[in-house]
Amino acid sequence: MNRKYDLSAYNEKRDFTKTSEPPGTTGRSSERLRFSFQKHAASTLHYDFRLEVDGVLKSWAVPKGPSTNPQDKRLAIRTEDHPLNYIDFEGVIPEGSYGAGKVLVWDIGTYDNITIKSGQLEDLNAAIKKGHFLIELHGKKLNGSYAMTRMNDEEEQWLLVKMADENAQSQGRILEEQPQSAISGKLIEEMK
Ligand code: MN
Repeated sequence: MNRKYDLSAYNEKRDFTKTSEPPGTTGRSSERLRFSFQKHAASTLHYDFRLEVDGVLKSWAVPKGPSTNPQDKRLAIRTEDHPLNYIDFEGVIPEGSYGAGKVLVWDIGTYDNITIKSGQLEDLNAAIKKGHFLIELHGKKLNGSYAMTRMNDEEEQWLLVKMADENAQSQGRILEEQPQSAISGKLIEEMK
């Protein structure tokens, strides 16, 4: 595949002599498409949803984080594409840098695109551009199907909602019950 990966917005916001975050180079794809949610204690605590699509990580900041309860509609604000190797970044973004604060990988895993249009699987990049897609997550914590829907065409404000399936829970308290990193087991305050 000969695609152009535009990570200039990502690179321009960061000084890689100061932060240990990876510089954005070219994309590469892994065998299974991956996702992660990074817990990010910046000026405000939020969760960054990363989704591998066409060689980059499509990204959304989710202020309240994901839920396993289909009743919860979680605002997800689109942010710049990130390089694939950001998917498992955890550490501390230094003071004075873009996004300064502690980051841990709250969940990570693979996903399947399950967006169906006219009886066919729709290309995920096309579905994202149109503002609606469905995915099935296979994470260490999150599993099952989720819907993402853009609320209007001008602003990149989306809603992340758990779909009703055997992984749905009426009490969506997974963020509080399992706060630790899915990679290191550390809590956000323990990140160095
Ligand atoms: Mn963030």
